Amino acid sequence: MTGYLVRGKKIVTVSQVGTITDGAMIIENGKITAVDKWENLREQYSYIPVIDYSQYVITPSLVDCHTHLLEFAPTSLYPVTSETHFLAGKSIIFLALSSGITALGEQICGHPLCNFSIEDYRKAVQDLPIDISFAPTSISIGFDILAHFTSITKSQSVTKRELIEANLVGKIARESDYPGENIFINATPANFTQEVVPRAGEIIYSLKELKQITEVYHQLGAQIGAHVAGEEGIEMALEAGIDVFHHAHGISNEQIEKVSSKGVKIVATPMGGTHLRPNSPEEILQFVEKNILVSIATDAYLPPYLGASWLPFNNQSLKGPDVLMLIAHPAMQLLKKHNYDENKILALLTANPANVLGKEHRFGRLEQGLDANFLVAEGIPGLEITEVEKIKKVFYLGKKVIDRKG
Ligand SMILES: [Zn+2]
Repeated sequence: MTGYLVRGKKIVTVSQVGTITDGAMIIENGKITAVDKWENLREQYSYIPVIDYSQYVITPSLVDCHTHLLEFAPTSLYPVTSETHFLAGKSIIFLALSSGITALGEQICGHPLCNFSIEDYRKAVQDLPIDISFAPTSISIGFDILAHFTSITKSQSVTKRELIEANLVGKIARESDYPGENIFINATPANFTQEVVPRAGEIIYSLKELKQITEVYHQLGAQIGAHVAGEEGIEMALEAGIDVFHHAHGISNEQIEKVSSKGVKIVATPMGGTHLRPNSPEEILQFVEKNILVSIATDAYLPPYLGASWLPFNNQSLKGPDVLMLIAHPAMQLLKKHNYDENKILALLTANPANVLGKEHRFGRLEQGLDANFLVAEGIPGLEITEVEKIKKVFYLGKKVIDRKG
């Protein structure tokens, strides 16, 4: 028997059973085979080795379903060349892992400095102890002269005309693992500061074009996600049948109702990512109140939006996946104040983003049959703790991959 029994002060399962005080899990072959009270499992599995973390909280590990760690980040952060690009990429992935994140939703947009195919990105990370879903995208950046790129055309910029070409859209859609920001309805500031991108926010597509693009995904049996902000763009996204809204900054109350009734999912990015003020804690509370499946993501690396009172940053240096708990904290605390259960609150960083990735049957909750991806921490991530140092251990498929001693 290769399994073990892991014991925690409490287990926040994010499943139907909620929190189990003095809980334990049986882990075998990378999977969770039982979750229950410690006393019940100890009796039943008296022969199995025990790992005692009874001074710590055990939770599902975190899922950041909107990141740009492998394409934009290496060239933004480090003096890399194409020879060392993925070396830097892997160290950034390690930082995510050491921040408690064991699953990522990565966007590949096309970038003038990165002449890599989506296959190159997949290969670079295939043996790493982390689960990465890729969303190939096209992107429109709000420079003085708009710049368009796609994951298919790599470092070569394209024209607006090419962006809507069915063949190209089909190629992007076919390589998409999940509805990330496959299309940018508004031109993006990307990770540039405001002065450099005066046209950020400009709407790129007509409603007719947007409907055609959405149709390409849906005919392939795929879902489509969009980068969208502002009432005009959001209205178009609703009309076109976009499945997942990334950002949705500047959404109106009426549009929140529509998102809810259509079953559209929202990936909130409280740190920034569009031309508008990012999602406030109050807005995220509203999404939850309207039963919208909402996730919180970093969109890292990003310069944090200045003038958002809920953000603890005082400069615009690029922030990475290590701030996920920190930027989620204000919204999670507000939910707590409104008497939401800690499991429902933690779902914003675990079960809900796993659902956006289409991997809710694999991880995001601590439940029999799911992957043994979990954290051992001094409190509930994002709700009670925001410093990565308070995450003591990270387990991926039953194996300890991060170990902070002491
Ligand atoms: Zn993004």
